[in-house]
Amino acid sequence: MTGLPALEPLPPVSVESIELVRVSLPLARRMRTARSGHEAVLPTGAKSRRSVLLVHVRAAEAEGWAECATESSPTYSSEYTDSAQAVLVDHLIPRAWAGPTGDVLALAPHLDAVRGHRTARACLELAVLDAQLRASDRSLAAWLGATSNSVIGGAALGMHDTVEDLLAEADAALGAGAVRLRAKITPGRAAGPLEALRTHCGGIALQADANGSFDLHDPMHIRELHQLDGVGLTCLEQPLAPEDLLGHAELARRLATPICLDEPLTSLGSIEAAVALGACEVVCLKPARVGGWVAARRIHDRCLELGIPVWVGGMLETGLGRAANAAVAALPGMVLPPDLDPRPRYEPDLTRDGLGVGGAVRVPDDGGTGAVPDPAMLVDARVSEVPP
Ligand code: MG
Repeated sequence: MTGLPALEPLPPVSVESIELVRVSLPLARRMRTARSGHEAVLPTGAKSRRSVLLVHVRAAEAEGWAECATESSPTYSSEYTDSAQAVLVDHLIPRAWAGPTGDVLALAPHLDAVRGHRTARACLELAVLDAQLRASDRSLAAWLGATSNSVIGGAALGMHDTVEDLLAEADAALGAGAVRLRAKITPGRAAGPLEALRTHCGGIALQADANGSFDLHDPMHIRELHQLDGVGLTCLEQPLAPEDLLGHAELARRLATPICLDEPLTSLGSIEAAVALGACEVVCLKPARVGGWVAARRIHDRCLELGIPVWVGGMLETGLGRAANAAVAALPGMVLPPDLDPRPRYEPDLTRDGLGVGGAVRVPDDGGTGAVPDPAMLVDARVSEVPP
């Protein structure tokens, strides 16, 4: 048992309108991953901006905001920003209007009618929850059971053409205060860069994320993965394709490095199955990927019961999404540093709040997530209301 009490029901709010807000934000830096090649074939491949989808709930008592943590293309998961917007408009928000709109715990069973699309659902749930928490003047972190008021973040390093460029990015992340590095890798660009990082950065906690790019049946790939056992990684994330749980179990038996899963962990059930198969020794928990913050808390509790190390992963969240992730990262069972990179992701960001100092990210203790969009950043936003 985790010792955390069950989530306490909150007073419902009277929802008056639900809006979708689309705003384009400038990325401060791009990150190349094993999947970036799939983006580059599109005219929009040069991802210098991100089109961000927000859900804005206005209730009589308070407002709620949430960011949809999707990307523009279905290359990380099958969900992408336009699909999330469509499923919110046509399926999720109509069900919310027909059900107990202003009460996130009562609303959940109505949203269960929609299969998949968990990132879109997470966004709607969080916007309602944010309004409820603000109306009750309670913070998301405290409501979930968080036990610390700041967390020290880790940084994700993109792939680079040269080792020198990778080491320069590592130096910048460590200089900003990151306590661990997570390097994006792909076959042929894994062992060399990681060995260089280990030599350059000494005993820093080091993870690697292959985004499903290795093939268990390719001897060259397997040789390179075995080489990683010499690097002393905290974990190797998603070496094989998301659906290949048996392959990951096979790899977990062969490698000394713990296997972490990300993309296929879309629910508590999928995590329990992956753990039972021996395919998952470390859990990357993204509240947006598992259908929301209520589900994330349940998964946190279950990982503690199972004795599986868990950490909060990130997408390309703005300050709005980061604040919500920080609340989960501050839960007592989070044994590994979260992906709350101390370096700015957007310049300017959607929210005015800074990122904290020296790598320590403040866990907001004001109402809701503690973050709202800066009105100046919404001047050119496209706003559409989804009426009852
Ligand atoms: Mg990942």
